[in-house]
Amino acid sequence: MKIRFISLASGSSGNCYYLGTENYGILIDAGIGIRTIKKGLKDINVSLDSVHAVFVTHDHADHIKCVGCLGEKYNIPVYSTHKVHEGINRSYCVTEKLSTCAHYIEKGETLCLKDFKISAFEVPHDGTDNIGYCIEIDGKTFSFLTDLGHITPTAASYICKANYLILEANYDEEMLKMGSYPGYLKKRISGPNGHLSNMETAEFLAENFCENIKYIWLCHLSKDNNHPELAFKTVEWKLRDKGIIVGKDVQVIALKRSIPSDLYEFE
Ligand SMILES: [Zn+2]
Ligand SMILES: [Zn+2]
Repeated sequence: MKIRFISLASGSSGNCYYLGTENYGILIDAGIGIRTIKKGLKDINVSLDSVHAVFVTHDHADHIKCVGCLGEKYNIPVYSTHKVHEGINRSYCVTEKLSTCAHYIEKGETLCLKDFKISAFEVPHDGTDNIGYCIEIDGKTFSFLTDLGHITPTAASYICKANYLILEANYDEEMLKMGSYPGYLKKRISGPNGHLSNMETAEFLAENFCENIKYIWLCHLSKDNNHPELAFKTVEWKLRDKGIIVGKDVQVIALKRSIPSDLYEFE
């Protein structure tokens, strides 16, 4: 079975990932416009008709901008927890409120859709409720952890399960410290319910490297407090300290914010 993964956008101005097989796909988050989603999918020969569900991680604007449209206009089921759904329908950025398209998955629950086995789990962040997803297809495991302030034992267990890992590397600690953000915002970002820094992610990966990980995509990079190259290097250096060679033992990719990534295909 051929599995395809692409990031259509990643970062605080919008997040959207596609994961699919030949004729069945899902989106994780939909924080960009419908046109951008359609174009990004069209460029990899995927039509919106073959997108059968959207899984939402939390109710911040950069993850939900398009869920009303995808759900109510295109009739694509939108899955998340009850709490996230309440948050979505309270959100200023969702003009079409979700009703018939709202579907539920709770933390600790596993759902089967076609060849996809999808589990939801808790991550520490400051949305109304915050979810990571672990998706198993044909014996391959993808874990999505975007927007989390620190790595809890639960988050760690899903990171270690993954063959293909999408994990946040939001900011460079020095850039955030020296940058122009107001103090309260710096505190929020670096706090336990904010975001992961390059170093936190790099150190965790180096300390807990599991042989089964083949690809790591660093996601949700900050525009103001990070660079793709810097995030990549930080992880590469930390892994090298432990004798793990990027490009040989594992692939690491820092995802761009507003342009789609390459298309990754796995058999
Ligand atoms: Zn976000
Ligand atoms: Zn967030």
